[in-house]
Amino acid sequence: MQSEPVSPPGPEWETVCRVCGHDDDPEPFWESGWPNEGAICPCCGNEPSVSDVSVMGLRNLRGYWLGRGAPWDSPSFRPKDWDILEQVKNIPPEWR
Ligand SMILES: [Zn+2]
Repeated sequence: MQSEPVSPPGPEWETVCRVCGHDDDPEPFWESGWPNEGAICPCCGNEPSVSDVSVMGLRNLRGYWLGRGAPWDSPSFRPKDWDILEQVKNIPPEWR
């Protein structure tokens, strides 16, 4: 029996975090259709995974992060003029 090829669940290239909207360009969170495991978001600390294709799951992660006061996972990456409201606008509409 031949197995069907698995179609990748994600985009070819995506540098914007689906949870918090941080753009980690040029580091992709998704590459060739698959989550770039180990590419932990310096902002919300999310590690891309195949479960990040669920809007409800992403909302849960985002809600948890915001509920803790939206802390930076790597505070040294936090821009001085960081504006969370500007950043969350980066989140693609389908993941909000
Ligand atoms: Zn993030």
